[in-house]
Amino acid sequence: MKTTPINDEQRAKAFAPNKKPEVMERQNLTVRYHVEDFEVEDRPRRFLEAFAAILRHSNYRFALDHFIRLSAKCSRCATQCQVYLATNDPDDIPCKRSELLLSVYRRHFTMAGSIRGRIFGTGHLTDEALQEMAESFWNCTACRRCTMECPVGIDHALITHLGRYILSEIGIAPRALVVSTREQLEGKTGNTSAVPVPALVDTLEFLEEDMKEELHVDIKFPVDVENAEYVFFPAVSDFLMEAETLMGIAAVFTATGDSWTTGTGYFDGINYGLFYSDRILERVVTKIDVETKRLNGKKVLIGECGHASRSAKYFLPAHCGGKDAFPVINIMEYTYGAWKAGKLKLRPNAIAERVTYHDPCNIARQKWILEQPRELLKAICADYVEMTPNREDNICCGGGGGTVSIDEIRPYRTTVGGLAKADQIRATGAKYCVAPCANCKKQLRELVEDQGIDCEIVGLHDLLYKAIEFDPSMIVEPEPEEDEAVEPVKPDVAGSADE
Ligand code: SF4
Ligand code: SF4
Repeated sequence: MKTTPINDEQRAKAFAPNKKPEVMERQNLTVRYHVEDFEVEDRPRRFLEAFAAILRHSNYRFALDHFIRLSAKCSRCATQCQVYLATNDPDDIPCKRSELLLSVYRRHFTMAGSIRGRIFGTGHLTDEALQEMAESFWNCTACRRCTMECPVGIDHALITHLGRYILSEIGIAPRALVVSTREQLEGKTGNTSAVPVPALVDTLEFLEEDMKEELHVDIKFPVDVENAEYVFFPAVSDFLMEAETLMGIAAVFTATGDSWTTGTGYFDGINYGLFYSDRILERVVTKIDVETKRLNGKKVLIGECGHASRSAKYFLPAHCGGKDAFPVINIMEYTYGAWKAGKLKLRPNAIAERVTYHDPCNIARQKWILEQPRELLKAICADYVEMTPNREDNICCGGGGGTVSIDEIRPYRTTVGGLAKADQIRATGAKYCVAPCANCKKQLRELVEDQGIDCEIVGLHDLLYKAIEFDPSMIVEPEPEEDEAVEPVKPDVAGSADE
């Protein structure tokens, strides 16, 4: 992976403080993202107390003990990190970032570190070190590309997650994520985009009408259907921003005839807990479990969203029933399976323009979903091209790990985090870049706009929508519009004066 590092001017723009000086002073915090006001006194002590409590109630100690013994300090991880390659700043070497937290663990939570620290009176956690963590852990996109390269398997994204988790326990977490999560867990609407149920139902009805007009097929978004095979949880923002993706998904289900439903009790797949708090993570997956049980559904179906899929797939079993937890399926797995089974017919070469595919880190890095979308795209596209590298070696969009939701760091995301991705997209010359993830879509749209790349970012189902061959029995003749209705022929009783 070759990336030309940013120059001084770009650096100044990417890292410009975006907050009022009086807020920074009041909070005594220099991070670029907005934070809700919190207790500023005695932060290091409170950080250590939170760290200790998390260690008591989790398995992190095993991983940390492993990591502090193993690092070879070889910097191979740096060669794979899109952030370091863009900044060339030693502080962005993954191993160095992780050391910010590992050194605290070593000093305060291991016997040898405590004894050494007491004897020499060194290694106390300072407010400055804490501030450095607060900044650095939100520069990492938790994409785990570095971990693939590390000869001893140090998981920097896990360390980043833990660092963010501890910080959030003392009130230091991006306001954008905290506010959305509060609405999801305690607000009236119960979802991160604050979509009320009547607005959801209205939107779905509107989309149904749209599809009938376009395709002449009666495509439905079933709501609150009990006993359905699949209970659907897209990123809720799709209801506001990704109508084409949702229409494609509804069209697929209409073609296959399988049962699915959206529940009005809970309909948000987003789980920001994956990015900054295990406590939040557990509460959100529990909502998915409760709603699927309420509707007596059989499986949890996650829409086009990487982190929503990963958080549900791995943490529903962890928190809601173990091996008896609901199976979790990503919509691309479903659509691919239906196509392979012959339940879904697709028109070859339905998309003439050049198309490429972006692998969302949360479903690609562990080799979960790699070939299914590719096979579907090759079936409908006349000109499909790969980015390099791809699949599990993909490069992050630059907005991973929750950073895409922090609008105030957009210059960082599109100048630093997404720089390597921009080069990749540009090199394909593609007209469409398929990004089957709500977070990646938002980041990549901002990236191509800020980097001046002529490429449209779409979902997989946006393109499938244009390629589905419905059974002729499903086609309904359009009703004539009122002003187009055929005038009844009037009997010519009077005749013509000339006759
Ligand atoms: S997880 Fe991704 S962004 Fe973070 S250090 Fe590793 S490669 Fe860099
Ligand atoms: S690749 Fe692994 S061992 Fe090498 S410096 Fe990075 S984290 Fe340490």
